[in-house]
Amino acid sequence: MQRRLDGRIALVTGASSGIGEATALALAEEGARVAIAARRRDRLEALAARLEALGAEPLLLAADLLDEREAQRVVAETEAHYGRLDILVNNAGVMYLEPVAEADLGRWRRMLELNVLSLIASTQAALAGMRARRDGHIVNVSSTAGRVANPNAAAYSATKFGVVAFSEALRREVYQDNIRVSVIEPGVVATELREHIGHADTKDALNAWADSMRQLQSRDVAEVIAFCVSRPAHVNINEVLMRPTDQER
Ligand code: NDP
Repeated sequence: MQRRLDGRIALVTGASSGIGEATALALAEEGARVAIAARRRDRLEALAARLEALGAEPLLLAADLLDEREAQRVVAETEAHYGRLDILVNNAGVMYLEPVAEADLGRWRRMLELNVLSLIASTQAALAGMRARRDGHIVNVSSTAGRVANPNAAAYSATKFGVVAFSEALRREVYQDNIRVSVIEPGVVATELREHIGHADTKDALNAWADSMRQLQSRDVAEVIAFCVSRPAHVNINEVLMRPTDQER
């Protein structure tokens, strides 16, 4: 039976857990072959075994994407391995929340570099091949924090507003090359993301807020990404804002 992504090649960054892991699986279930990138090799190996079982012929790319050359390398290796890259899912990200007055600028610099600059670097690396083939889809994972700015999330929001702005400008630069750009803006998703918040009060408050609602699951977001990238070539879903039903802001 023909599947919607049969023959398509995808690269998912931040695939070792959460939304990225679920997205790699969802794309594989639709027939795509999938390259997976992140730092934690053991987690990627476990995912690769599941992808293999789905026939996705996974390419495991252990990489610290904080280094923009690594962001470029994972794209180049995907193209070299499969012959091209059709779908780039820029999902790798961190969320360091703390009040501006107390912020550790080094930590915020790393967040800006991963959430924004690394995403730009992998996108740039993918464009040449997509342009040459006049085919490609870039999916950038932003957040409701890319639409609504909250206290203690100033720099995280700056990165995610940045991803929304970058995605729209990019779309307008490449739509005539038949390259699609989608930005996904999920609300609260039950993942490991909040575990890395260093500011105890902010972490506690956010966890309590998340626990007060039926959170999105990674699979909910992955299904939306799989839907976006499996539309016919003339359909570009530019932006998806999605929240748990119980989430107000
Ligand atoms: P996870 O923490 O589960 O996933 C984050 C992923 O990013 C992991 O695979 C991690 O892999 C990878 N990553 C982090 N740092 C690096 C690095 N330096 N180099 C390479 N990979 C890295 O959280 P989520 O699944 O929730 O996050 C995925 C995306 O979704 C992020 O961009 C996040 O901002 C966004 N998002 C999440 C929401 C939520 O509520 N959870 C809501 C809205 C958006 P590893 O550590 O192995 O490197």
